[in-house]
Amino acid sequence: MATSPANIPPTLKGRVLIVGATGFMGKFVAEASLSSAHATFLLLRPGPIISSKASIVKAFQDKGARVIYGVVNNKELMEKILKEYEIDIVISAIGAESLMDQLTLVEAMKSVKSIKRFLPSEFGHDVDRADPVEPGLAMYKEKRLVRRVIEQSGVPYTYICCNSIASWPYYDNCHPSQLPPPLDQLHIYGDGRVQAYFIDGYDIGKFTMKVVDDVRTINKNVHFRPPTNCYSMNGLASLWEKKLGRKIPRVTVSEDDLLGIAAENCIPESIVASITHDIFINGCQVKFHIDGIHDVEIGTLYPGEEFRSLEDCFGDFVHMAVDNNINNNNNNHKGENGGGVTTTTATAG
Ligand code: NDP
Repeated sequence: MATSPANIPPTLKGRVLIVGATGFMGKFVAEASLSSAHATFLLLRPGPIISSKASIVKAFQDKGARVIYGVVNNKELMEKILKEYEIDIVISAIGAESLMDQLTLVEAMKSVKSIKRFLPSEFGHDVDRADPVEPGLAMYKEKRLVRRVIEQSGVPYTYICCNSIASWPYYDNCHPSQLPPPLDQLHIYGDGRVQAYFIDGYDIGKFTMKVVDDVRTINKNVHFRPPTNCYSMNGLASLWEKKLGRKIPRVTVSEDDLLGIAAENCIPESIVASITHDIFINGCQVKFHIDGIHDVEIGTLYPGEEFRSLEDCFGDFVHMAVDNNINNNNNNHKGENGGGVTTTTATAG
């Protein structure tokens, strides 16, 4: 669909500082920032960097990213960086273990007074409405506290509530899209009927960069709820079976099983189990209406923009499963329906 001039959002294109660009979620955001032609600055922690992260940074630099060394929990340094580089927009994709470091960053942004938008490290559920058991709750309490401090600071903000990343939702893996869905047995949470939204990482980055200078998203929770990407566990299992061209045994993981894994308090796996319980047992992504004054749904903002379908994402996972098979030197051969992967030792995270 062509975008009419009336649909073009007013923009204030700005200079973007990304914290956590070497991380799982930050990479999608940095990629999109560079593609959207924003002047992109990456805040990296000083010190040795592992080679896989160094190559990510190099690739971003080749696309025009500028690297700044620093840590967000150094107020004076952050003030200096924000002023010197004339940063307009700060996006944090800091990892769960460092969420509270953002409090110092907020103080620095408040002090320089020139930040037009801050996106804290959210990129998941609306943490004021979701209610996982511990230890996920502790992480949500930190995200909630960061929200309250931002709101008091007066720095304009946007909370990205993008729900789940497109992948098989392993109950013990923080970065599930790095693995293909299982090939040997499929864990179905509860009755498998509770729905959730699954968004491709590319789209999380792309739509995040659309909202950062869209005045309609100032001080809003932006919810990602594309109807085409809403699936239950049963639906995901059927989609994966369709892609492989064969059936896979399904095993029920009950509410008590998930609560038991959460109660083991093994970090980060138990955090993932508690959030998995909130999604697929409590229905935390679908149990509330997004009609509050601070809510906006991404599809209503950009009606002409489509999300990558889960069909396509799971198509990618077929290739990933085949590659993993080859790398693992396991036997693999074509399935009965042509092109199906039939044997592997899929890692369940
Ligand atoms: P990662 O652990 O993969 O990456 C964290 C990044 O933050 C790294 O680049 C790290 O740098 C950087 N960092 C950490 N502390 C500091 C600091 N003090 N100063 C500067 N940089 C710092 O994080 P994730 O991508 O897993 O998580 C990011 C957000 O995305 C979280 O809010 C998380 O809850 C959410 N998420 C959502 C998912 C979903 O399905 N919706 C899935 C996964 C995450 P370094 O390279 O130096 O370590």
